[in-house]
Amino acid sequence: MSDPTAHPNDSTTAPASERLAAVLGRIDAARESCGRAPGSVRLLAVSKTFSVQAMSEVLAAGQRDFGESYLQEALPKIAALRDRGACWHFIGPIQSNKTREIAAQFDWVHGIERLRIAQRLSDQRPPELAPLQVCVQVNISGEASKSGCGPAEAGELCRAIAALPRLALRGVMAIPAPAEDERDARAPYARLRRLFDEIKSTLPDEAAAKFDTISAGMSDDLEAAIAEGSTLVRIGTALFGERDYS
Ligand SMILES: *Cc1c(COP(=O)(O)O)cnc(C)c1O
Repeated sequence: MSDPTAHPNDSTTAPASERLAAVLGRIDAARESCGRAPGSVRLLAVSKTFSVQAMSEVLAAGQRDFGESYLQEALPKIAALRDRGACWHFIGPIQSNKTREIAAQFDWVHGIERLRIAQRLSDQRPPELAPLQVCVQVNISGEASKSGCGPAEAGELCRAIAALPRLALRGVMAIPAPAEDERDARAPYARLRRLFDEIKSTLPDEAAAKFDTISAGMSDDLEAAIAEGSTLVRIGTALFGERDYS
């Protein structure tokens, strides 16, 4: 009889080490085909909806960065995998009543779109921890329904965040609208890269030196994102299988 406590998403065919190697191989091939340096693209394993067991296997296979979108789902996973050397990234929308726990439990936050949230995270980051590493989310496709600040406001927001004492501003993040083909897929990532370069050139030297991250690309379009300069791809489905939200 099958284990009734097993999550349906865990019924993946290949072992975790093979799935991880396949994703890393895809990233490497994309990186090499555009002549970028080895090690210039980091894999964030997006584990939302997947069990501690599934994550534990990927961790054992050598993956360190994990991304979660929902605080209540993430907290028990972080507790269960404590002392296993994982680096935790919060990639979901951030409500102001959740900032205290996010600031205490995560290493990175990718979805910052307002200064008020950044100020709370800085104020609430526990003093014994390293600064919280953050990216500003940009609504790069200009979709009315999507999160992220407008591209025109991103520079000012980044400069304000760079001055906060308990945050380290690392770069920008985006989730573009789905594209029809490879050429369409690259356009928003090219805009994000230009915006990143523009913002970096306006930051004070010390902040500019830390500003090194373009968090862009998911399972379906990581090749397009890497071709346009992404330094961190956020991969769920290609690593863990299809998500089941039921
Ligand atoms: C779920 C999620 C991903 C992963 O998407 P896949 O298509 O499964 O790779 C990446 N980024 C964010 C912000 C997400 O919420």
